[in-house]
Amino acid sequence: MSQKRKDKISKKQFKEVVEYAIQYHFCYCYLCGEPILPGQKHNLDHVVARSKGGATEPSNLRPTHYDCNQAKADLSLADYRRLQRFFLEEKDRGK
Ligand SMILES: [Zn+2]
Repeated sequence: MSQKRKDKISKKQFKEVVEYAIQYHFCYCYLCGEPILPGQKHNLDHVVARSKGGATEPSNLRPTHYDCNQAKADLSLADYRRLQRFFLEEKDRGK
């Protein structure tokens, strides 16, 4: 089921906006919240993973660091955050 909206931008346009934002230092990784720096490897992550039916379109894409994206893989954002907390707590325990 696909609904066509007039204001919808293409994936290519979205990528251009992200590139532009990175160049001017106002692009942040939506997974770790750190800025994505010019020249840093990055990705567009699917908020709803493709394997779970998420579409490859701007409304479902967010810029991330390449490494953060690899770490998240097919997890949902909630699961990813849970996993992150788990590792942070491990670190705090000094292990
Ligand atoms: Zn990140």
